[in-house]
Amino acid sequence: MATLEIRDLHVSVEAENGPREILKGVDLTVKQGETHAIMGPNGSGKSTLAYSLAGHPKYTITGGTVTLDGEDVLEMSVDERARAGVFLAMQYPVEVPGVSVSNFLRTSATAIRGEAPKLRTWVKEVKETMERLQMDPSFAERNVNEGFSGGEKKRHEILQLELLKPKIAILDETDSGLDVDALRTVSEGVNRVRGTGEVGTLLITHYTRILRYIKPDFVHVFANGRIAESGGAELADKLEAEGYEAYTKGGVSA
Ligand code: ADP
Ligand code: MG
Ligand code: MG
Repeated sequence: MATLEIRDLHVSVEAENGPREILKGVDLTVKQGETHAIMGPNGSGKSTLAYSLAGHPKYTITGGTVTLDGEDVLEMSVDERARAGVFLAMQYPVEVPGVSVSNFLRTSATAIRGEAPKLRTWVKEVKETMERLQMDPSFAERNVNEGFSGGEKKRHEILQLELLKPKIAILDETDSGLDVDALRTVSEGVNRVRGTGEVGTLLITHYTRILRYIKPDFVHVFANGRIAESGGAELADKLEAEGYEAYTKGGVSA
C-alpha cells in the first residue's frame, strides 16, 4: 500500500517585505485507503500545503521532506508526481484554452498509465462516470475550466479523480461556498473512490459540513502553519460544536 509521508515541512512565500514562512513544520502520513480531513481556520495555511504538494512555483520549500513510498516527491516534476500516483486537483492549469475536457482526460490518463487507454472502453468509462456525476454529456466537449462554475469545477475534479485512479488524492475544497448539490457530488465521488480501498484521500476544508457526507478515518486541525491536533471523526463533531477558537487564541497568522 502506497504511503505519502510529510515530515517537518516548512514553506515560505515571497511577500512584499521579504520571505514569509507559512508552513511551520507539518507532519502527516497518508496511506492508500485512508481518508484524512484537514480542517482549520482561514489563513492557517491549508491551501499552501496543497499548492506546495502540487509543486506550485510560488511556494518555496525551506525545510522538511515529502515522500511517496520513500521516493522524494519534492524532486519530481508536476507530471512525475501524477505518474507516481499523487493526484492534486490544482496541479492543472486554471484554464486550458482550446483543449476539450475529453482530450484533456485522455491525455492525462495516457501520461499516468504510460499508454493510451483503449478508445472504446475509455469512451464508455468517461460516459458512465459523467452520468454518475450527473454531468451533461456536452460537458466533455467544453474547453477545460473555461467558464466553469464552481460546481462544474468540482465535478470535473471528481471526474478526474475517478478516471485517473490515483494512489493519493489531495482535494482542497477551498473556502468558497459550494452549493449543496456540488457538495453532495464531491462527497459521493470521494466515497466511491474510497470504496475501492485503493485511494488515500487528503480532504482539506474549512467547513465541517462536508463531514456529514464523508466520515474521515482521521481529522487534523490545522492552525498557524502546522497540525495542532489529530483525532478520529469525533474531532470533527467537536470542531462543529466549538469552532476553531481554541486553536487560534494568541497565535493566528495575520
Ligand atoms: P487557508 O487555505 O488555510 O485559508 P492559505 O494557505 O491560503 O490558508 O494562506 C495562509 C497564509 O499565507 C495567509 O495569511 C495568506 O495570506 C498567506 N499566503 C498564501 N499564499 C500567499 C502568497 N502567494 N503570497 C503572500 N501570502 C500568501
Ligand atoms: Mg520545524
Ligand atoms: Mg484555502
